[in-house]
Amino acid sequence: MTFFRDNIERMSAYVPGEQPADPAGVVKLNQNENPYPPSPKALAVLREFDGTQLRLYPDPMVSAFRRSAAEVVGVGADWILPGDGSDDLIIMIARAAAGPGRPIAYPVPTFPFYFAQGQIENAPLVEVPANEDFSLPIDKLAAVDAALAFVANPNSPTGATAEVEQLDWLAGKISGLLVIDEAYVDFADTDAMDLARRRPNVIVLRTLSKSYSLAGLRLGFGVANPTLMGGLLKTKAIYNVGPLPAAVGAAAMSDVAYHDQCVRAILAQRTHLAEALADRRWTVWPSGANFLMVRPPGGDAKATFEALKARSVLVRYFNQDRMRDKLRISIGTPQDIDALLRALDAMAAERA
Ligand SMILES: *Cc1c(COP(=O)(O)O)cnc(C)c1O
Repeated sequence: MTFFRDNIERMSAYVPGEQPADPAGVVKLNQNENPYPPSPKALAVLREFDGTQLRLYPDPMVSAFRRSAAEVVGVGADWILPGDGSDDLIIMIARAAAGPGRPIAYPVPTFPFYFAQGQIENAPLVEVPANEDFSLPIDKLAAVDAALAFVANPNSPTGATAEVEQLDWLAGKISGLLVIDEAYVDFADTDAMDLARRRPNVIVLRTLSKSYSLAGLRLGFGVANPTLMGGLLKTKAIYNVGPLPAAVGAAAMSDVAYHDQCVRAILAQRTHLAEALADRRWTVWPSGANFLMVRPPGGDAKATFEALKARSVLVRYFNQDRMRDKLRISIGTPQDIDALLRALDAMAAERA
């Protein structure tokens, strides 16, 4: 006996990267978290938050945060839809746009949450293999012409970053929605916000989980024209973002100097790690994100993952097509990256 629809029974639940019960002493480079603390201004808002206001239902439109986010990205407030992380926006969009006879397309490998939402909505799933060099297969995505296409840009787990011109071309070719998931965009050279402004079928997603170091707060937002927003509002939980994340998130976004400083530190370590691994004969793919997709010499990624874990260094191994010889390593502090490189050197010395 089952209580659920067939498609729910058939699907498997999303498995996040490992979360150690006691993260102290673990070098955690497996979930693309920011290694630096959130903005001191955001933490001050958290400390000073007046808890008595939690008695009341919040503003369902989270208007104050909408205005702050709108200012940062340069659109009107009615172009912003806040969510309980950008995952929440992905759920709202899939609910509104996908279903039986309304396919979802996305390149693979990518963020598995798109796939999960497609299964939940019982939508046909069209997986388009990334090009040989892991760049975005825009011609093949355009040929699918799905009701809904997801492009993480920069992509995870590859780090590949498409040019805005390519995304613009894709948006113009397809008749469905194009969601550009910019979770990692602050670590890249370009962003596609302009397409949300110009293209009637584009939604850009942003999150405070990565560059703002607020993964635990659960706050993200979508940017699209008010017509699209009107549709998405119908699938939103009524009070999806409370006043506490809204206030802390707005403070974090207003602290531009601190944000820039964190991003610069992470980019410096990304360059350092890429060079250090290349020196050790690893293959390193170009990345516009706060992680690197890499291949150990010999391609035994699973054994390398296990050996690192035994030395309390957590990275990500994906048991999936084209990824079994690779690892995804999040960029940490200089100390984290040192610890990783020391562990790799110790492993190499043991083998010799
Ligand atoms: C981390 C990540 C997100 C962010 O999810 P939140 O729900 O905002 O924490 C979205 N998309 C991709 C591709 C990610 O890697």
